[in-house]
Amino acid sequence: MPSASIVAPSAERRRFPLPPSVLRRINGQLRDDARLLDRRIARLEADLHALGAPERSDIDAVAEGEEGPVVEAIRSRLDAALGRRGEVHRALLRLIEGRFGRCERCGADIRAERLELVPTACRCTSCGPR
Ligand SMILES: [Zn+2]
Repeated sequence: MPSASIVAPSAERRRFPLPPSVLRRINGQLRDDARLLDRRIARLEADLHALGAPERSDIDAVAEGEEGPVVEAIRSRLDAALGRRGEVHRALLRLIEGRFGRCERCGADIRAERLELVPTACRCTSCGPR
Protein backbone atom coordinates (compact mmCIF):
# COMPACT_ATOMS: atom_id res chain seq x y z
CA MET A 1 0.00 0.00 0.00
CA PRO A 2 1.63 3.27 -1.12
CA SER A 3 2.07 5.93 1.53
CA ALA A 4 -0.24 8.95 1.44
CA SER A 5 2.78 11.26 1.40
CA ILE A 6 3.50 10.50 -2.25
CA VAL A 7 0.20 12.05 -3.29
CA ALA A 8 0.54 15.10 -5.45
CA PRO A 9 -2.34 17.55 -5.62
CA SER A 10 -4.10 17.20 -8.93
CA ALA A 11 -6.97 18.71 -10.81
CA GLU A 12 -8.79 15.39 -10.52
CA ARG A 13 -8.64 15.64 -6.76
CA ARG A 14 -10.69 18.82 -6.79
CA ARG A 15 -13.40 17.02 -8.71
CA PHE A 16 -14.26 14.90 -5.69
CA PRO A 17 -17.95 15.03 -4.88
CA LEU A 18 -17.08 14.78 -1.19
CA PRO A 19 -15.54 17.48 1.02
CA PRO A 20 -12.03 16.81 2.41
CA SER A 21 -13.34 16.29 5.95
CA VAL A 22 -15.60 13.47 4.77
CA LEU A 23 -12.76 11.96 2.71
CA ARG A 24 -10.52 12.00 5.78
CA ARG A 25 -13.19 10.24 7.81
CA ILE A 26 -13.70 7.62 5.09
CA ASN A 27 -9.94 7.16 4.86
CA GLY A 28 -9.73 6.52 8.62
CA GLN A 29 -12.68 4.17 8.48
CA LEU A 30 -11.14 2.16 5.62
CA ARG A 31 -7.80 1.93 7.46
CA ASP A 32 -9.59 0.70 10.59
CA ASP A 33 -11.43 -1.87 8.48
CA ALA A 34 -8.15 -3.02 6.92
CA ARG A 35 -6.56 -3.49 10.36
CA LEU A 36 -9.57 -5.45 11.65
CA LEU A 37 -9.51 -7.65 8.55
CA ASP A 38 -5.75 -8.24 8.92
CA ARG A 39 -6.37 -9.50 12.45
CA ARG A 40 -9.35 -11.63 11.39
CA ILE A 41 -7.37 -13.17 8.53
CA ALA A 42 -4.40 -13.94 10.80
CA ARG A 43 -6.74 -15.57 13.33
CA LEU A 44 -8.49 -17.70 10.69
CA GLU A 45 -5.15 -18.76 9.20
CA ALA A 46 -3.96 -19.71 12.68
CA ASP A 47 -7.16 -21.73 13.20
CA LEU A 48 -6.56 -23.59 9.94
CA HIS A 49 -2.98 -24.24 10.94
CA ALA A 50 -4.05 -25.52 14.37
CA LEU A 51 -6.44 -27.95 12.66
CA GLY A 52 -3.65 -29.22 10.46
CA ALA A 53 -5.33 -27.93 7.30
CA PRO A 54 -3.03 -27.29 4.32
CA GLU A 55 -1.64 -23.84 3.64
CA ARG A 56 -3.51 -21.68 1.16
CA SER A 57 -1.05 -22.53 -1.63
CA ASP A 58 -2.02 -26.19 -1.27
CA ILE A 59 -5.76 -25.64 -1.56
CA ASP A 60 -5.84 -26.88 -5.16
CA ALA A 61 -4.53 -30.23 -3.94
CA VAL A 62 -7.55 -30.65 -1.67
CA ALA A 63 -10.49 -32.36 -3.34
CA GLU A 64 -13.93 -30.81 -3.02
CA GLY A 65 -15.74 -32.03 0.10
CA GLU A 66 -12.70 -33.85 1.39
CA GLU A 67 -12.16 -31.50 4.30
CA GLY A 68 -14.30 -31.52 7.40
CA PRO A 69 -17.13 -29.02 7.82
CA VAL A 70 -15.18 -27.02 10.43
CA VAL A 71 -12.22 -26.49 8.11
CA GLU A 72 -14.54 -25.67 5.21
CA ALA A 73 -16.40 -23.12 7.33
CA ILE A 74 -13.12 -21.47 8.36
CA ARG A 75 -11.94 -21.43 4.76
CA SER A 76 -15.12 -19.82 3.55
CA ARG A 77 -14.84 -17.11 6.25
CA LEU A 78 -11.19 -16.64 5.30
CA ASP A 79 -12.09 -16.25 1.62
CA ALA A 80 -14.73 -13.69 2.51
CA ALA A 81 -12.29 -11.73 4.70
CA LEU A 82 -9.59 -11.82 2.00
CA GLY A 83 -12.08 -10.58 -0.61
CA ARG A 84 -13.27 -7.83 1.69
CA ARG A 85 -9.70 -6.76 2.49
CA GLY A 86 -9.00 -6.55 -1.24
CA GLU A 87 -11.99 -4.24 -1.67
CA VAL A 88 -10.82 -2.05 1.21
CA HIS A 89 -7.27 -1.86 -0.16
CA ARG A 90 -8.53 -0.94 -3.62
CA ALA A 91 -10.72 1.81 -2.12
CA LEU A 92 -7.72 3.19 -0.20
CA LEU A 93 -5.67 3.10 -3.39
CA ARG A 94 -8.40 5.05 -5.22
CA LEU A 95 -8.29 7.64 -2.43
CA ILE A 96 -4.51 7.94 -2.62
CA GLU A 97 -4.48 8.13 -6.40
CA GLY A 98 -7.31 10.64 -6.61
CA ARG A 99 -9.75 8.26 -8.31
CA PHE A 100 -12.03 7.81 -5.31
CA GLY A 101 -15.69 8.52 -5.95
CA ARG A 102 -15.50 8.00 -9.68
CA CYS A 103 -17.13 5.01 -11.34
CA GLU A 104 -14.48 2.54 -12.55
CA ARG A 105 -16.63 1.62 -15.52
CA CYS A 106 -18.10 4.85 -16.93
CA GLY A 107 -16.13 7.52 -15.06
CA ALA A 108 -19.22 9.25 -13.66
CA ASP A 109 -19.22 10.56 -10.10
CA ILE A 110 -20.62 8.08 -7.60
CA ARG A 111 -23.30 9.70 -5.43
CA ALA A 112 -21.90 11.11 -2.19
CA GLU A 113 -24.59 9.42 -0.06
CA ARG A 114 -23.67 6.07 -1.60
CA LEU A 115 -19.95 6.59 -0.90
CA GLU A 116 -20.61 7.56 2.70
CA LEU A 117 -22.70 4.42 3.14
CA VAL A 118 -20.44 2.10 1.10
CA PRO A 119 -16.92 3.60 0.88
CA THR A 120 -15.72 0.56 -1.09
CA ALA A 121 -18.24 1.24 -3.89
CA CYS A 122 -16.32 1.46 -7.16
CA ARG A 123 -19.24 1.73 -9.58
CA CYS A 124 -22.15 4.09 -9.98
CA THR A 125 -25.65 2.66 -9.55
CA SER A 126 -26.28 2.45 -13.30
CA CYS A 127 -23.11 0.44 -13.91
CA GLY A 128 -23.47 -2.26 -11.28
CA PRO A 129 -23.96 -3.32 -7.72
CA ARG A 130 -20.27 -3.24 -6.70
ZN1 LIG B 1 -20.81 4.01 -13.98
